[in-house]
Amino acid sequence: MKTETSIQGLSASLQTARAARKVIGFVATMGNLHEGHINLVREARRLCDVVVVSIFVNPTQFGPNEDFDNYPRTLEQDSHLLAEAECDILFAPSVEQMYGSRPRLTNIRVEKITEDLCGLQRPGHFDGVALVVTKLLNIVQPTYAFFGEKDYQQLAVIRQFVQDLSIPVDIIGVPITRAADGLALSSRNGYLSEEQRNTAPIIYQLLQQAKAKLLQGVALDVVLNDVKQGLDQAGFVVDYVEARATNLLHVETFEQDVVLFVAAKLGNTRLIDNLMVKYSKSIG
Ligand code: AMP
Repeated sequence: MKTETSIQGLSASLQTARAARKVIGFVATMGNLHEGHINLVREARRLCDVVVVSIFVNPTQFGPNEDFDNYPRTLEQDSHLLAEAECDILFAPSVEQMYGSRPRLTNIRVEKITEDLCGLQRPGHFDGVALVVTKLLNIVQPTYAFFGEKDYQQLAVIRQFVQDLSIPVDIIGVPITRAADGLALSSRNGYLSEEQRNTAPIIYQLLQQAKAKLLQGVALDVVLNDVKQGLDQAGFVVDYVEARATNLLHVETFEQDVVLFVAAKLGNTRLIDNLMVKYSKSIG
């Protein structure tokens, strides 16, 4: 595996692959890699000739009170994991390399779907994501780019601006990788105390119970309220428990496929999860 830290170096490394019309797959990460990230790399490996993974903790997607400075940076360990997963090129640029020294005057804002769910508590977050992902897609110019359904809203935002800006890439969504106890893997799980880590899987248990109730015909608002109460009782501070259509539009009732979304804090650690529930006419 090659490591490149400059845009020029990366372009040079990809030159032969591009000339030979190889299928380039790309996975964008902020590092501190776990099995969830590695699954994206495996999916890229399966579908592509050349796999590029970026590790870049992107300052523009962190709010002033968020964990940018303390976000775990574990490049050496990540590099081993990527080599094992047969990544071809690790792109690990500095903030300078990505953003340059001149002031930035361009923003990329996706409307509506960023003003909901995580966008409410994290103003500007998805603008930062849209900006860095656009830049990375321009730099790498992959055939396919892989993003996790763990960040379902992020995936929807990326699909939207890729379509709106006619970026020539296929976006592939990859299902959530979970720990054996159901907790969605996340770099932020490392912030949890042992006790909090034992509590955290309740999120997924409640989502599964909610799914079962919906399939039995219990009303959507009742089901969402049960999840909220369950989280409250377990000691979470709930940010939101919501249902949306798969395109993130609002839904009042369960009469089509819905995605259930949870964001909740355990101590200072904000955890998110989601679960899709498919609708069939025979429900209830
Ligand atoms: P991050 O490093 O948190 O920016 O995540 C990089 C990519 O990995 C994003 O596309 C995430 O959605 C994806 N990802 C992170 N955790 C998981 C997981 N548990 N399952 C699936 N994808 C994930």
